[in-house]
Amino acid sequence: MSSLSDRSAVRNRSRVVVLFFCVWLGLSGSLSASDGALEPFVADADYDPAIPKPQAIAGHAVGEKAVRYHALVSYLYALSEASSRVTRTSYGHSHEGRTLYYLTITDPANHDRLDQIQADSARLADPRRLEDAEQGDRLANELPAIAWMNYSIHGDELSSTDAAMFLAYHLAASRDPADRELLHDVVIHIDPLVNPDGRERYLSHLQQLTGVVSSPDLQSMQHQALWSRGRGNHYLFDLNRDWLVHLQPEVAPLAEAILSWNPHLLVDSHEQGAYDTYLFDPPRDPINIHLSPRVLEWRKRFSADQAEAFNRYGWSYYTKDWYSEWSPIYTNAWASLQGAIGLLYEQARANAATVRNPLGQEITYRETVHHHIVSSLANLRTLAAHRREILRDFLRDRREAVASQTAGIETFLLPPAADRARWTALVDLLRRQGIDVAFATEAFQAFNVTDLWGKQHESRKFPAGTLVVRTNQPRRRMLQALCDFDPHLTESFLREERKELESHRGTLLYDATSWNLPMGFGLDACWAKAIGELDVSDRMPDADKAGVAKGGYGYLVDFQTSDAYPVLVRLLDSECYPRVAVKPFQIGDTTFARGTILLRGHENPEDLSDRLRKATSDFDIAVHAVNTALVQEGPDLGSDKFELLTAPRVAIASQWPVRSTSFGSVWYLLDHHLRLQSSPLNVQNLSGVDLRKYNVLILPDSGGLDRVLSAGTVERIKRWIQSGGTLVAIGNSALFAADEDRGLSSVRLRREVLGRLDEYDEAVARERSARDIRIDPNQIWRGDVPGTGGGKADEEAKKKGDLDTLRRTDQWERLFSPTGTFLLGLVDPEHWLNFGLDEKIPILFWGSSALMSKHPAATPVRLADADKLRLSGLLWPEARQRLAQIAYATVERMGSGQVVLFATDPTFRMWLPAQQRLLLNAILLGPGLGASQAVPW
Ligand SMILES: [Zn+2]
Repeated sequence: MSSLSDRSAVRNRSRVVVLFFCVWLGLSGSLSASDGALEPFVADADYDPAIPKPQAIAGHAVGEKAVRYHALVSYLYALSEASSRVTRTSYGHSHEGRTLYYLTITDPANHDRLDQIQADSARLADPRRLEDAEQGDRLANELPAIAWMNYSIHGDELSSTDAAMFLAYHLAASRDPADRELLHDVVIHIDPLVNPDGRERYLSHLQQLTGVVSSPDLQSMQHQALWSRGRGNHYLFDLNRDWLVHLQPEVAPLAEAILSWNPHLLVDSHEQGAYDTYLFDPPRDPINIHLSPRVLEWRKRFSADQAEAFNRYGWSYYTKDWYSEWSPIYTNAWASLQGAIGLLYEQARANAATVRNPLGQEITYRETVHHHIVSSLANLRTLAAHRREILRDFLRDRREAVASQTAGIETFLLPPAADRARWTALVDLLRRQGIDVAFATEAFQAFNVTDLWGKQHESRKFPAGTLVVRTNQPRRRMLQALCDFDPHLTESFLREERKELESHRGTLLYDATSWNLPMGFGLDACWAKAIGELDVSDRMPDADKAGVAKGGYGYLVDFQTSDAYPVLVRLLDSECYPRVAVKPFQIGDTTFARGTILLRGHENPEDLSDRLRKATSDFDIAVHAVNTALVQEGPDLGSDKFELLTAPRVAIASQWPVRSTSFGSVWYLLDHHLRLQSSPLNVQNLSGVDLRKYNVLILPDSGGLDRVLSAGTVERIKRWIQSGGTLVAIGNSALFAADEDRGLSSVRLRREVLGRLDEYDEAVARERSARDIRIDPNQIWRGDVPGTGGGKADEEAKKKGDLDTLRRTDQWERLFSPTGTFLLGLVDPEHWLNFGLDEKIPILFWGSSALMSKHPAATPVRLADADKLRLSGLLWPEARQRLAQIAYATVERMGSGQVVLFATDPTFRMWLPAQQRLLLNAILLGPGLGASQAVPW
């Protein structure tokens, strides 16, 4: 039944624009099939009967159904207790409290000296720690290779975990001499289930949705499951995108464990659309420029052996297709930049059942499990066979990294920032990525400096406390992949991509074209090619945290640091009455920025200082006691320029068609990060919800709310806003709100106002002049005529009569919309939505939604002019023109309430600590500063 040819093996799949790692609905038919006979997972295996088989513990044969978490854990215990080849390590807990495990499987003799192997591998990974070159060469010859095998990071990609369970059994029980040799040559770590919360959620759905007679029909509910499915973890994060920030409890300790072992091979096992076949390495273009060519060559070698293993069964597979590795955000891409041969598997899914494909053939779950087992063993055998060459290449790469005095960029610099929390979080993250960091003990000069905004400086002075990161270190590739501001795609790739777009076939890009940490954190980072004399220390400089002394009049709490948000939540929870400064002011020598929190003694409980101490105890946040309301500059502390905050009572729209990842990151930010009570609501039932309970309603990004929110529901939301509510709409939900017929906002989509673009240009010009007042007395007293300065407006006005052309142009230009590109956002520092931020902010932008705003809508963040717009990532000239000067964030009054729109998600994957401050301000400051609340009677 099976058929295999070169043509079917490397097939040309339909290209789909996907943000997700694995496509749910494959678009092309599978040529892979089998007769479903239960052939053994490994041919001619000879197993030690003393080792328990999975079915003896799990209660079912491997591949018969998907193993549940508890059965899996029982098996991990049984296996590690029965076999001297296996140890079990728990490395953390999921959000829902499930313990996370990996097994270490190797020859008992290796187990006896495992600590030594780990320490020697660390020396190989950091040649500075080797006694001499000879020791390095000896270790590369003698050490076993280290393999790290990860399964089911996406919880709804089931077959991987069952494959891992069998693989562990096979390696523990096999008496085959080839396997003994494998275990002598390789230390194998197996993490059978990276995302247990997602898998258990998904399996409980499938159980509820499957009848006595299982259906092979892919459209049936038992294959479709329920909203949010099982891909993400508890907070619905795609854990295979968390390797940039190491935030989730399933990833952070796993990354630490992997880094502590310095693996030479890392496998990450996935599933793709059910009608597909099997995809594996190598990826197609574009590939990250910092990836070692040696690693890439090895990935091809591993792939060739894997293909050979599949050929033995006549199975279909393909390589070099839809998965590309430009961004270092996926497990195996990240591991490759850390020096491992990082491989990816994508098996067509069967959802723990059987799927009938378009040819009428049935693909069983057991077959899908089998493919992963064969892949895993093939890759492990390649590693064992080439162990010495691979270790030597690994060492060579690290030696070059340590020795490198690159002619170009050399040192990454991050001066201390007013937002101490954001700065510390970035430093901490670099350390957790395995990067060596140091801190300047005194001020120094750097030369040939490029700043975050792309500006070149011949020299620049940096203060004491600046983070200094040299590139000549073992993990140089990772450092540059994380912190380079603006890596460029190759010209040949751009040509290919352009062809796809112009042919209306969609992008070849798989995910964000920009991701760098300094821009995500929005900090004043620089790269310098040379630095002057400099003393450094490993110790992070202390924060100047003042104690909470008794203040006769009250207290001022810093708002520049992002720690201000959890502190505000605690203050509001402890029944304090914080106010926020809407103007800067000065007391003595200290200037206080907009947003500074004021607690007046007479407005707050008598034990205010105790409550304040408690609220701030976990944070590095400056608190100043004040004994007078009188200040030197700016408004006095008793004035109405200190606005009273209203405690937010937050509802978040959830369920289809809300995007699970957008809902998840908003919910995570408020619930987990801030510990702010919030109520996720079913958006489908919003018409029946008593909105009066809430003063903030968040509509995360969605797949189009028009499918669930009727005109009547919109009317209810409008009345709720008018009586003081703050509506926050993100991404596509903002577009829903900006639709003219809904009457929720005066903001419009660009394509709807093509005939009136000149009005918007004029509004931008007025907005700018209001922020930058320049008086030309000659214009007043002599009647000089000011220049119009609206080149674009003139041009558009000329075209005004020709709407058809404008529409066609707009439609064409939308083809070239960015997929995750950092654009320059210009910030209105006086608007409360921006308190705590500088005047410029990198905005990670996706898609074609161009929001157009003008008075009376305020536009606290607007994208920059075309020539300054792109900071990092791909931006075609068409998109540059279209997106220049559009609104990123708008705030608009409606009755006593307001509508806040964000063109894209500021909480995206929690990658954007700078941008997310906008949303936090909307939620925590919005009800008090942007809406009016009823005064108690
Ligand atoms: Zn996946």
